[in-house]
Amino acid sequence: MTEQPKPERSILIAEDDLVSRHLLETILGKWGYRVIAVSDGLEALRVLKGDDAPSLAILDWMMPGMEGPEVCRRVRELPQRPYTYIVLLTARTQQGDLLRGLESGADGYLTKPFDAEELRARVHVGERIVNLQNNLLAAREELEFRATHDALTGIWNRGVVLDALQRECSRQAREGGSVGTIMIDLDHFKQVNDTHGHPCGDIVLREIARRLGSCVRPYDTLGRYGGEEFLVVVPSADSVGALRMAERMREAIRATPITTQQGPVRITASLGVAVSGNGQLLNPEALLRLADDALYRAKARGRNCCELAPPVEPEAPASEEQVPAPLRSGSQ
Ligand SMILES: [Mg+2]
Repeated sequence: MTEQPKPERSILIAEDDLVSRHLLETILGKWGYRVIAVSDGLEALRVLKGDDAPSLAILDWMMPGMEGPEVCRRVRELPQRPYTYIVLLTARTQQGDLLRGLESGADGYLTKPFDAEELRARVHVGERIVNLQNNLLAAREELEFRATHDALTGIWNRGVVLDALQRECSRQAREGGSVGTIMIDLDHFKQVNDTHGHPCGDIVLREIARRLGSCVRPYDTLGRYGGEEFLVVVPSADSVGALRMAERMREAIRATPITTQQGPVRITASLGVAVSGNGQLLNPEALLRLADDALYRAKARGRNCCELAPPVEPEAPASEEQVPAPLRSGSQ
């Protein structure tokens, strides 16, 4: 045996004939497969539907419970499953029957009594197809990851965090409650790049993303907003909760210098916090603007601090410009 399959590769044999089943079990076991052997079609379907189902299957045509082609049809109907390569085992040699077997979604067939070399060829083709399929799936997952994550830090990208903000604001409009946003900007980050070089700056950004990640809950969304700016969407947070989280983040960044090849780099951040809640409903743009204004005030106050946006005064708009947009467009 020159080629051995990976030890974890398993194969299902569904065959009611005891002699034939044992023969298949012995041969495939010798080739290194973990063999799952069953003797009826319903049991075969149960195995193939299960979690951790084998990706290769040899199904006898005539079996109690359910015939091989029907098992095959049912497997093909399952949505969102990794591919199962299915070989039908049959004593039938009439061409019409074989076509019917293939139409059920089988990948190939093997006539009984089978020849070991032919079995091996079929199984190897199956291995190749399953591997190709798995590679395609992995490539698609990789693409999805790249489309949604920041390449440098591995956290969500700007598009995803803005989507999360939109979603949370819509949820708040439907169900009430509150939404918090925290905008974080590293202080004098340009100096890190200028003094130590961009590779060092990248290490700092990655470490900051990691530290910020350790401050959020599983249902918060942390993303990279721009160069050295990060944005967090905090569902159901009131002002006190959002400000407390921002303080934890500020401290996580400030407390320990970041280890780089150029030595330890000390950095701080300024944070702006804004919350939509307590009876006032802000749209994503307004919330972002408030967080941004608060961040600006934190910078003006001397950096390395958190600022909370004051509640918006809903009453008595002083001029035409301060009337909310929907009202203005409604009056035109
Ligand atoms: Mg049979």
